[in-house]
Amino acid sequence: MDTILRHSENRKSAPRRGRFADFIRSSQLRHAAAYVLITFVGLLLLNLYAPMAIRNLLFSSQRTAMTDKAQLMAASFSSYEHLDAETVREVVHSVNDLHTTRLLVTDPDGRCLYDSQTTGSAEGKLTLFPEIAEALSGTDVVYTRYKNDLFTSKAAMPLMAYNRLIGAIYLLENDRDQAELLSSLQKTLFWISVGIEALIILLSMLFSMLFSKRMRNVLQSVQRLDDGDYSVRLPSRGNDEVARLGKAFNDLAQRLKQSEDVRKQFVSNASHELKTPLASIKLLADSILQNEMDEATTKEFVSDIGNEADRLTRLSAKLLELTRLDSSPAEERQAVAVAPVAERVLRMLLPQARKQGVTLDLVCGPAETVLASEDDLYQVLFNLVENGVKYNRPDGFVRMTAETGPDAVTIRVEDSGYGIPNEAKPHIFERFYRVDKARSRKAGGAGLGLSIVHDMVLRNRGSVTVEDRPGGGTCFVLTLPTPAAEREETP
Ligand code: ADP
Repeated sequence: MDTILRHSENRKSAPRRGRFADFIRSSQLRHAAAYVLITFVGLLLLNLYAPMAIRNLLFSSQRTAMTDKAQLMAASFSSYEHLDAETVREVVHSVNDLHTTRLLVTDPDGRCLYDSQTTGSAEGKLTLFPEIAEALSGTDVVYTRYKNDLFTSKAAMPLMAYNRLIGAIYLLENDRDQAELLSSLQKTLFWISVGIEALIILLSMLFSMLFSKRMRNVLQSVQRLDDGDYSVRLPSRGNDEVARLGKAFNDLAQRLKQSEDVRKQFVSNASHELKTPLASIKLLADSILQNEMDEATTKEFVSDIGNEADRLTRLSAKLLELTRLDSSPAEERQAVAVAPVAERVLRMLLPQARKQGVTLDLVCGPAETVLASEDDLYQVLFNLVENGVKYNRPDGFVRMTAETGPDAVTIRVEDSGYGIPNEAKPHIFERFYRVDKARSRKAGGAGLGLSIVHDMVLRNRGSVTVEDRPGGGTCFVLTLPTPAAEREETP
């Protein structure tokens, strides 16, 4: 007992203690983490690639601009055979301002003839720039570098006149504006990415927690259902997986509740039915013990005790039959001739029928054959004929007829008894249902015979209905498949 209590306590407190641990282990969190990781990698690539692409674009536009400027300047010198400082200065001033940081013009030996930079001017000195050396050897040099938030572009070209080298030109340009633009773009992109990633993490966590909460709710409801609380229901609004799961769960809980209600009703009815004869037996036995009675009365009382005991035996047999029907699978069906089984039933019930002055009649040829379990067929016919006898008038009759149709045999069990009122007809196959309780009890019934008939016929793939017999009484119509019909169904 102690162990059971502790066990159920553990089950109840487990969800509370493990809430965070459950969340950490949840598949939803793993999905969210994967999503965050994927978006992180995507944003990282964007941060690396986009500035690189823009920088390359700026490099190429800077190089083109420097080449154009150097070519423009070089073209201005193409009509001079020889360059001196004076000429160069004139030419440079005649050309529109090129907006360069520094402009150098040298003679063919690399001596500087012009330097736009006034402080630390190289004029008159030998220039040692490697770009100028390369230009004097006949090669154009153009390149751009980006360092410390600064674009530095350099261009050097040989100056040619009449196919003769007359000097070299060197241009230097430092562009801080474009570099700042690039750097601010890089920073903006970085912070936007950080913002997006933070938002993704936040939303992922939020959705994971919401989903986890809903799943926890489902698990707790399953636990409550397992503990026998059939009233538990899940919210089923929406159309996502959890809502669909909720709907399926609610249907299941509803069905479990219904079957539990049926079970409780059955147990309570069965107890009641068992209690009545037991109470009678006790009452009769007490009367015999307590009262001085003559032998004849005592015999009568003992015989009543015997009758009640018979009733108990019949009731237990029917309860056992129902339990067997609910729990064990149907017996193998086979081709069964109806006539011999029906004859056996009538033989068994003949003494009872005679006692009540009821005649039994059978109209069934030897060809009528059904596909059924023979024991089930016997029990079904027995219950129907027994009812026909029990609920009959003196000098009445019970007639059983069987005829074969296209794919089923129809067996009719008619009687000339009291009949069944229309309002009772939909209920007579329910367990423990009796039309006239007093009459049925007197006849020794507990309202189980027809429900056994119904369950047995269904498991033999047949059907059973009830109708009024023209001229008074009841007619039960039973159909069971013929062996040929079943063979056609199974390919
Ligand atoms: P019981 O064991 O009480 O006979 P059944 O399930 O066999 O229970 O029948 C249910 C009720 O249907 C009976 O109580 C009786 O009132 C009614 N009934 C069954 N068969 C007949 C019949 N042939 N004629 C009239 N009433 C019947």
